Amino acid sequence: MHRPRAIVFDLDGTLVDSLPDIVGAFRDAFAEQGLTAPSEAEVRDHVGLPLETMYAAFAPAERVAALSASYRHLYPQRFTRHSRPFPGVPEALATLRGRGFRLAVATTKRSEMAVRLVAALGLTDALDVVQGTDGFPHKPAPDVVRRALAALDADGVWMVGDTVHDIEAGRAAGLSTYAVTWGTHDAERLRAARPDRLEATLEPLLAATSG
Ligand SMILES: [Mg+2]
Repeated sequence: MHRPRAIVFDLDGTLVDSLPDIVGAFRDAFAEQGLTAPSEAEVRDHVGLPLETMYAAFAPAERVAALSASYRHLYPQRFTRHSRPFPGVPEALATLRGRGFRLAVATTKRSEMAVRLVAALGLTDALDVVQGTDGFPHKPAPDVVRRALAALDADGVWMVGDTVHDIEAGRAAGLSTYAVTWGTHDAERLRAARPDRLEATLEPLLAATSG
């Protein structure tokens, strides 16, 4: 019997346009802690890394825990204010499912928050597994991708993501890598990570999986 094939997607900036809510909550935490927030552009460049790593880039080490705690109560209050699936994403997932692929999210978000975001945006039924990073090495380490594949009980084919961390994690997990240019990292930065594909839509993924 053939094992099913799988495609693993990053969540934020790849399937869902969630960066404005993430960046907004990230910056609001500075106000809550009486600190001056970095600019939206500065924050955006760091999205996709763990929260503590992001705050450590902009704040003294002794303030990182409090800032992270602020984010963790601020973000759930606003996480769907502007966040939506990117255009064409629900349709593309349905097409891939129809071809027999198993589909997973592998995100640096914690699983509990990732599951809530996926549900709020109506994508729960479009995905087989939503795997967050819960206390093990984050991307670019391949752990979250490997866990998603293990939960799917399928052979991984593609890793799709919007940052160099996704591409490195996918490659380290033995998958072909598909970088998308509508998220956090621009095409130039993504190209430097040598993805197998660098694309501005999901159409080439659908074409590559139609055989
Ligand atoms: Mg991302």
